[in-house]
Amino acid sequence: MKLFDDIYLVAGAELDSDPGDANTYLIDGGQKLVLIDSGGGYNVEGLYREMGKDGFDKSHIDMIINTHCHFDHTGGNYQIRKDTGCKTAIHETEVEAIEKDTELTVSDLWGHDLTPCPVDRELKGNEELAVGKHILKLVHVPGHSPGSTVITMEQAGKKMVFIGDCLALLNLPGESKSDLRSSLQKLIEMEPDVLLTGHEGPIVTNPKEFLKEHLDIVL
Ligand SMILES: [Zn+2]
Repeated sequence: MKLFDDIYLVAGAELDSDPGDANTYLIDGGQKLVLIDSGGGYNVEGLYREMGKDGFDKSHIDMIINTHCHFDHTGGNYQIRKDTGCKTAIHETEVEAIEKDTELTVSDLWGHDLTPCPVDRELKGNEELAVGKHILKLVHVPGHSPGSTVITMEQAGKKMVFIGDCLALLNLPGESKSDLRSSLQKLIEMEPDVLLTGHEGPIVTNPKEFLKEHLDIVL
C-alpha cells in the first residue's frame, strides 16, 4: 500500500496479519529495495503478495534494517533472508538478541517463537546507507530498547523518519527511561516532517509538537 512516493506499507496489523504484527515498510530505491523491519513473521507470503500488488518483486530486496530486536519487528528476518538472499542489519547492541533469541527480543514474554537469524551488518547508529537514489541516515535512539534506531530519508523536501517503537516504555527488559528522554530530545532536534510508526499510521500533523507532548506526558 503506497503511503508516500517511494514508501510503501507491505505488512502489519492493517494488512491481513496478526493484530500484534508490527508495520513493515518498503523503500523503493530503484533496482534496490529496503525493508524497514520484517514484522512478526506471521504472514511473510502475504508480505510478498502486498509487494506484488505494489509492483515489486521480492528478489530485489537488498536489505532488512531493523529498528530494534523485538520479535514483532524481526520475526520475518529469517524467512525473507532465506527466500531472497538479502542482508539484515541491526544496531550492534542487539545482534546477539537476534542471533540467539535472548530475552531482549521479548518473544518468550509474549509466548512467541522467534527463529534466530544471522545479522549481516552491525550498525553503530550514525551511518548513511545508499539505497539507489535515496540516502538513509541512521540515528541511535536507545530507550525502548538498547539498540533502537531511527531511519530518516528525505522525500520531496520532507524529512521522513521511521521510528519503530522508540517512543514506548512498556517495562520490558532493556528499557531505559533516562535514555529515552535524551533520545526524544534528539528526535525533536531532527525536525521531522513525518513519523512512520511501528504499529500505527503515519504522524503527519505537527510531529515535533507530538514528540514534545510525549516528552512531557510520558517522561
Ligand atoms: Zn518494541
